[in-house]
Amino acid sequence: MRGRRRTPSLLAVLTLGLTGCAAPDEPTRTVVDDAALADTTQGDNWLGFGRTSSEQRFSPLTQITDANVGGLAVDWYLDLPGDKGLGSTPLVVDGVLYFIGSMNIVRAVDATSGTVLWTYDPRVREYAGRLRAGWDLSRGIAYWNDKVYVATWDGRLNAVDAATGAEVWSVQTIDPELAMYITGPPKVFKGKVLVGNGGTENGPSRGYVTAYDAETGEQAWRFWIVPGNPADGFENDAMRMAAETWTGEWWTHGGGGNAWHGFTYDAELDQLYIGTGNGSPWNQKVRSPGGGDNLFLCSIVALDPDTGEYLWHYQTTPGETWDYNSNMDIVLADLEIEGRERKVILHAPKNGFFYVIDRTNGELISAENFVETTWASSIDLETGRPVEVPGARYESGMASVTPTELGGHNWHAMSFNPETGLAYYPAMHQARTYTDIGIDPATYRVTNWLVGVGVGGGNTGSTHPDGLLSTLQAWDPVRQELAWEIPLPGLYSPGTMTTAGNLVFQGRLDGAFVAYRADTGAELWTYDLGLGILAPPITYAVDGRQYVALLVGYGSLAARGTEAAALGWAYGLHTRRLVTFSLEGTATLPPQPPPYIPGPIDAPFEVDRAQVGRGAVVFGQQCSLCHGGGAVAGGLTPDLRASLIVTRLEDFASVVRDGARAVNGMPAYADISLDELVALQHYIRARAETDLAAQAAEERR
Ligand code: CA
Repeated sequence: MRGRRRTPSLLAVLTLGLTGCAAPDEPTRTVVDDAALADTTQGDNWLGFGRTSSEQRFSPLTQITDANVGGLAVDWYLDLPGDKGLGSTPLVVDGVLYFIGSMNIVRAVDATSGTVLWTYDPRVREYAGRLRAGWDLSRGIAYWNDKVYVATWDGRLNAVDAATGAEVWSVQTIDPELAMYITGPPKVFKGKVLVGNGGTENGPSRGYVTAYDAETGEQAWRFWIVPGNPADGFENDAMRMAAETWTGEWWTHGGGGNAWHGFTYDAELDQLYIGTGNGSPWNQKVRSPGGGDNLFLCSIVALDPDTGEYLWHYQTTPGETWDYNSNMDIVLADLEIEGRERKVILHAPKNGFFYVIDRTNGELISAENFVETTWASSIDLETGRPVEVPGARYESGMASVTPTELGGHNWHAMSFNPETGLAYYPAMHQARTYTDIGIDPATYRVTNWLVGVGVGGGNTGSTHPDGLLSTLQAWDPVRQELAWEIPLPGLYSPGTMTTAGNLVFQGRLDGAFVAYRADTGAELWTYDLGLGILAPPITYAVDGRQYVALLVGYGSLAARGTEAAALGWAYGLHTRRLVTFSLEGTATLPPQPPPYIPGPIDAPFEVDRAQVGRGAVVFGQQCSLCHGGGAVAGGLTPDLRASLIVTRLEDFASVVRDGARAVNGMPAYADISLDELVALQHYIRARAETDLAAQAAEERR
């Protein structure tokens, strides 16, 4: 069998302490290389982020089908009491399941029992200050040959021995002075590990991706996504070309373009595709005041995987000004379109259009909107460019636009089932006000480590005909139309996985784990996990038993604000878990506490109204990213309206300025002055009192 050789299994190696000899009937060990990652026929393993290098998240396993999925039961589970938000895709190699959890801690567990084989802690607590710009959440890891690759939100790329969890090498991939971070999975191909970064909104950021030698960690190449200052010279011809599409002194703002999620290696065509980010800052009037397409923002860029040299690009949102990045999954497929076999990319980025792109050359084949789009009416197939709606660029200072900055679709996994011909992903239906009234583009500057986008406004409600914020969509990319759609609770719903058993699996924000018929969307099975879900499921098989596995843990950056709070997944209350199901499962999950919504508490503190306005400004810039607009937490962090610490200045200072809770991921904000701290106290307590009064009025009604 291709890509396999007879060697001791990992479990055998662990049992024998690396010294024993394998019995002749030991199972073969999978060599994870380009051939293994591209192999769509084997279903036992889940070797890469999107299962195979096509990123389809389609499994050929057929033990669990649309006929018997109703019998699915918990097989085993692993409690993760120290974890918070869990959004990652586990990997499975020869009966061992590897996953990354909170604080970027990676565990290897027996995929048939959940027994922990090793734990790797990259000690991100030592870098807690960087959480000011980042997330305590990773979307995944990579596996190649005999190592697991772990990117940390402080910017390191670490190689770990897959057999023991011992760190083999570690490199820092971002400048510690810059407000950048990594939440995405590394991608491995041809003996190289690729890693990107995020942080477009947190400082003057210039995005890039870097490839490292998988064995040594030595840098192989780096590709910058937007041009730097022309006076410094361009790194390559691609940057010289890109610079023609920028105006003003864009480099002083960084430009952005950070590639934080979608990377796909096309083993068939030997090309690497990078999904690129939005502008830094969002507002193009600030960033590139004379307009221009601003390459390579919001694009799919094809690179030579050996050298990182530019091959071609397709830009989904020229001159972007809405945070419509194209970082979403880049899924490879072969489709018959108008009688021709086409090698295509399927891509559903934030801007609300579903793109089918010829991956041999980057030409647009078709594009239709999958959610309501009021920024552009259509995509011109001749030019490949959007037909923009006048006014959508908030030319006169304000516009109501859909989708929002969260997108019609975000990072949540899109799967594609070649048997049904459908792509499955959660869609978001929401409008937003964009306004730069009060912002002077000539003087606006994003300050390092603070949230800055050069745009005001906020989300304004559903644009779906049924008033829904989120739906599961099954999209036909050949016909470019919706095949079926299912209402979902909440807004920021998790991703999907699909199988040859005519199934689609998806978790929900309300804690339900659901299986649908892949062809019709009929709901076939549901299981209440008692805690909101962010992560996409996987499936694998060991010793002839098919498992479905899912990380259960609400608490990403979206877990803040009133919409998230209404779900009732309070910080630190519900136990995070890795749960697996099979048709032979007999395990019982311990019950979770019911949903709980922490409300504001009455506390001994006299609010000085004169301090509230200043406190609101400090809170908006420094605290709201994690603690929520209006100090309403949604599960990611404690609700400060319910905190007694806030009322006691000495305790409050020890947490905020001295980092007393750094171990939990609360960084030390040493540069916040005592005056600002006091203003924060008055603002938070004023918010609590306002909400208490509203509650009391509600109860009287
Ligand atoms: Ca962004």
